[in-house]
Amino acid sequence: MTRAVGIGRLAGVRVEVDWTWLLVFSLMTWALADAVFPEQSPGLSQGTYWAMAVVGTLTLFFSLLLHELGHSVQARREGMEIEGITLWLFGGVARFRGAFPSARAELRIALAGPAVTVVLAVLYGAVATLGLPESIHSLAIWLASINVVLLVFNMLPGLPLDGGRVARAVIWEITDDFDRATHIAGRAGQLLAYFLMSAGVALTLLAGVVSGIWLAIIGWFLLGASRSEIEQADMQRHLGGLSVADLMVRDPVTVPADMSLARFLDEVVWRHRYTSYPVLDESGHPAGLIAFRRLTRVPREQLALHRVGQHALALDRVVSLAPETPLIEAMQEMGARGAGRALVVANGRLVGLISSTDVLRALEARQAGGAAKARASLADTR
Ligand SMILES: [Zn+2]
Repeated sequence: MTRAVGIGRLAGVRVEVDWTWLLVFSLMTWALADAVFPEQSPGLSQGTYWAMAVVGTLTLFFSLLLHELGHSVQARREGMEIEGITLWLFGGVARFRGAFPSARAELRIALAGPAVTVVLAVLYGAVATLGLPESIHSLAIWLASINVVLLVFNMLPGLPLDGGRVARAVIWEITDDFDRATHIAGRAGQLLAYFLMSAGVALTLLAGVVSGIWLAIIGWFLLGASRSEIEQADMQRHLGGLSVADLMVRDPVTVPADMSLARFLDEVVWRHRYTSYPVLDESGHPAGLIAFRRLTRVPREQLALHRVGQHALALDRVVSLAPETPLIEAMQEMGARGAGRALVVANGRLVGLISSTDVLRALEARQAGGAAKARASLADTR
């Protein structure tokens, strides 16, 4: 989710909106104004339906935000670091850094969001009983029911739904095995995803219900998300105790920023054949990263005229990590910024280079046959 745009902070938590939310916002507003509200409260003006639709969608958006804030505030109370909340196609995601401190802590964090939704649903329900004008009454009924529907769906016991987190926390508490609990709750999430996808396809093809497509899409996203929960847990187990220093390439081949591309090609690339090289400024400090495929964009006869520094990815666009950074965190950061490689920097000096492929290869080796094998395969990749 790198296409998210920050919209501000709420209770100290960074809030981002993914572009897919714009799509949902427009579709939902249109469906509410065109079909849902005219059906629910006939006889109001078209303008009123549109106003209700916009207020309804925005209030739902705010309800989702409060739900995620519930998770975040509780997570902070449990001592976890919060990266932020992102609202996207199917609701919100609160992102935390690191592992859950305990099964009970995860249970409390998982329940905090749904608890907020319950309170909101009750509030909207209460507004509906106040005898207010039809437009507000109708809006309140819709908000109360959509929140109940989302709550019920969200409490189904498969990861990454909140119900799945509750299930994992309970299994984790009973078995004292986080990894096993994740696999069980993750499998349940995958089953749920397959069920939604087949139900969606069946509804669309056999019963001609076009909105069945939505069920199928939700199922598809759920499938991917439950898989990545399991992968994340595997990574946690196999790379748990390791830091960047354990898997980085020490003293990588570097190039000075003022070297010409022609010399870079002749003296560095042909000899070493790596895909990218850290770039150093004249005082020897890291200045960026250059990928050798950048050379293909420069006409051959101009290679002598261009400098490495002109074509390197600048330092602020490269991920820099400290050697003692836990490997899991490093992978999260590289993943979040879409980077395959990161510079390892200590006291302003370049000490290494780490690539996510190396880490994944080490992970595979560890899964296949323990630490000894992992070390052997690491020696290969260096
Ligand atoms: Zn939630």
